[in-house]
Amino acid sequence: MSAIPYAPAPESVRPRLRTSYDLFIDGAFVAPRDGSRHVTINPATHEPITEVSHAGVADVQAAVDAASGAFPAWSALPGAERGKHLFRLARILQERARELAVAETLDGGKPIRESRDIDLPLVAAHLFYHAGWADKLAYAFAGRNPRPLGVCGAVIPWNFPLLMAAWKVAPALACGNTVVLKPAETTPLTALLLAEIAQEADLPRGVLNVITGGPETGAALVRNPGLAKVAFTGSTAVGKAIATELAGTGRRLTLELGGKAANIVFADAPLDQAIEGIVNGIYFNQGHVCCAGSRLLVEESIADVVLAKLARRVRTLRVGDPLDKNTDVGAINSPAQLARIRALVASGVEEGATLHQSDCVLPDRGNWFAPTWFTDVAPAHRIAREEVFGPVLAVMTFRTPDEAVELANNTRYGLSAGVWTDKGAKALRIARRLRAGVVWANTFNQLDPTSPFGGMRESGFGREGGMAGLREYVEL
Ligand code: NAD
Repeated sequence: MSAIPYAPAPESVRPRLRTSYDLFIDGAFVAPRDGSRHVTINPATHEPITEVSHAGVADVQAAVDAASGAFPAWSALPGAERGKHLFRLARILQERARELAVAETLDGGKPIRESRDIDLPLVAAHLFYHAGWADKLAYAFAGRNPRPLGVCGAVIPWNFPLLMAAWKVAPALACGNTVVLKPAETTPLTALLLAEIAQEADLPRGVLNVITGGPETGAALVRNPGLAKVAFTGSTAVGKAIATELAGTGRRLTLELGGKAANIVFADAPLDQAIEGIVNGIYFNQGHVCCAGSRLLVEESIADVVLAKLARRVRTLRVGDPLDKNTDVGAINSPAQLARIRALVASGVEEGATLHQSDCVLPDRGNWFAPTWFTDVAPAHRIAREEVFGPVLAVMTFRTPDEAVELANNTRYGLSAGVWTDKGAKALRIARRLRAGVVWANTFNQLDPTSPFGGMRESGFGREGGMAGLREYVEL
């Protein structure tokens, strides 16, 4: 990468942003009653973008009240009418996709190529998919009298802000529920733009409410007795706290938490394709991916070849301006996340693993971390056990399929895994033995609204997407 001259060709579309955002409650932007405001920062430049509100307890209550007030009419609306509202939201999102992609990249640091070509199309696809279900629930759950739950509280993380919002808002609204959405503190912009789009689409007031703020706002929301369900995506630690909070309340809960996925490469795999899958598996979105293939398990007989090819490929990755369409790896989302990545990488070196890094030149301001991989990793090392949530790969080797499965399942998580082999039967046999909610064969990080996504063990429970995801938003 150091050999490639840095000649940025930044995206020229600029999102229409306000200088300050209020909270979106009952169909209108309203100033926080008891909350404060903070400035959201571009992680690639450390420049301020705009000011957003911090919802306090009274604001959270107002949002839940608005969603409760909207619930009777929204849930009584014929499914086809709710579907029309969702189709309209989806179409406006598509029309404003370029602008939303830039906002996502400015706020979160992800490469524009990813927000424009992956996140936004998936956001629209989720809305279209669930819009289609809105008038077919009686067929989806034939003879089981599906009914909406009530007000759903959705708390989402910063790695795929608008996509995680869509994963929750689309099925909730399609099933006749109303929503209070709380985006992460470092990436509130696209949720606020979604609120504007809800206004533009004439979504009945109170059906979708967006409250911004930090952990306290999230905690106040999940604690609110007016909620019928909490849908949370975020860290395992916070997920556990929420599960404790909700235990015994009768409120429904789905948790999409962390992961430490194994990406298993057998000697008979199509190697060049596998190298692309390994790179996509860990360096996509700077490794800020819950289902990232952060543990590479490679069959010992091909380890040298794979590592040589990997080293060559990683050095071609362009790290830099997230708004440049040629960028492969963007900025780390926050200084706190950068510090966490650095600490875990330091632990890898201290514990005896061998560090390899791309020799790319990092920009001199903003939060950056070079694509990194470790060899000589032992299963007991922290980099093999803990979720780094950054562009850091831990490589281990195996000799037999049994050893591969044992290593892969040697984790407290269970969100995703990958298998690379040219034998279909072998891929299926291994997949069946992997304790992970999603297993990809000869590909990685593929998401689709028709396909349920979710974890087991400390990666959480419940599914998002497909009919299994729909099931989480109805009473039968
Ligand atoms: P986080 O748990 O710190 O925060 C997630 C959200 O929860 C944020 O909106 C935050 O403000 C809020 N929050 C924090 N403390 C809270 C509390 N006590 N009560 C209620 N809400 C609270 O996680 P993060 O750092 O934003 O995200 C990274 C984590 O998310 C990673 O562990 C990653 O694996 C996970 N993740 C999982 C999935 C999945 O589908 N399984 C998807 C994306 C991210």
